[in-house]
Amino acid sequence: MDRNGSDTPKTVRCPTCGKQAVWDKSNRWRPFCSERCRLIDLGEWFEERRRIPDDRPPEDFE
Ligand SMILES: [Zn+2]
Repeated sequence: MDRNGSDTPKTVRCPTCGKQAVWDKSNRWRPFCSERCRLIDLGEWFEERRRIPDDRPPEDFE
């Protein structure tokens, strides 16, 4: 029982745009503020992965 009378909805900072995003069941994109920000973040992640070569490092290539 820890009710301190705080009505402020819990918010987090959207990792993509830095805006306050409501951390609630109603926000299905959390921790992002919107679907758009979520997709942008995923896109960057995929691009990042693509850039990393999946082959052996050149030093290992005799
Ligand atoms: Zn956002």
